[in-house]
Amino acid sequence: MIRPKAIRNTSQRKAVMLALGDLHGSHPTASEIFGAIRVRNFPIGLATVYRTLDAMVERGDVAAVRTGNAVRYDLTHHHHHHLVCQICGTVIDVDASEVPTDLITFFESETGFDLSNATIQLNGTCANCSPTN
Ligand SMILES: [Zn+2]
Ligand SMILES: [Zn+2]
Repeated sequence: MIRPKAIRNTSQRKAVMLALGDLHGSHPTASEIFGAIRVRNFPIGLATVYRTLDAMVERGDVAAVRTGNAVRYDLTHHHHHHLVCQICGTVIDVDASEVPTDLITFFESETGFDLSNATIQLNGTCANCSPTN
């Protein structure tokens, strides 16, 4: 009984990967990913989508981005960081090369952490939600 389950898990992971590819750059929620999978007529339940996403986050294939009111998901295949608006939930990608290496090496030498694949999330307020607008 172990083998069929393993195969099913693999195809569920593939379906989630495909959906994340379809929605690339939009940092979808689990229910948006669920919708994109159902559009492809792949039989899957929302609970399974959540469980599969959890496993993929644990493996490092997917990043979970916590916004003010939701958890959003993103592929990790290119190294990047996130700016997150805590009011509307907008997520902006920042290429890892745009973050000063001084910042990373400072924390590495202070703590002994290897931060070469670290992801930074900067929470704030986007231009649209800023009270000065
Ligand atoms: Zn905003
Ligand atoms: Zn991203």
